[in-house]
Amino acid sequence: VPVDLHRILEDVVDLSTMAARHKDISLVVDSPTDPVLALGDPDELDRICGNLVSNAVKYTPEGGTVTVTLSRRADRVELSCADTGIGIAPEDLDRLGTEFFRSSNPEAVAQPGTGLGLAIVQRIVERHGGELVVESELGRGSVFRVTLPAA
Ligand code: ATP
Ligand code: MG
Repeated sequence: VPVDLHRILEDVVDLSTMAARHKDISLVVDSPTDPVLALGDPDELDRICGNLVSNAVKYTPEGGTVTVTLSRRADRVELSCADTGIGIAPEDLDRLGTEFFRSSNPEAVAQPGTGLGLAIVQRIVERHGGELVVESELGRGSVFRVTLPAA
């Protein structure tokens, strides 16, 4: 069914606002104001956004920025979640979608987690015929880009 990612993103960001404020992180949303429709399951697309935004806030130190961008690309929509956080080592990038994988980076280990969030994201994205691309640099930050079929 058509799902308005713009609406979903607003709810997800509302949920992360307190955590972000607590760490003095600016949580920025860059999205068209009208609906951005993806084709999929509303709860599952909500989980994608929720996991990516909560990770970004969790793995970004005090005073950083998390920017969530929504855009339309021909027959796709793209959701990107960029942070100025701790980053991910190159050797860890391939393993992010593995269940229970957590980086051994001490700054990441210091945060609580089970290592399931991204495995779930990966699975949902695949089920929707979408794509997940991660770019990251240790100590500088990460960008998670999800493309999904547009409705
Ligand atoms: P949870 O199951 O609660 O989500 P988690 O956050 O540890 O636990 P994932 O969301 O699957 O698990 O993330 C896996 C690992 O990838 C994390 O432990 C962390 O090391 C790394 N990671 C994920 N997102 C980021 C990010 N935005 N910046 C830096 N590292 C990240
Ligand atoms: Mg997580």
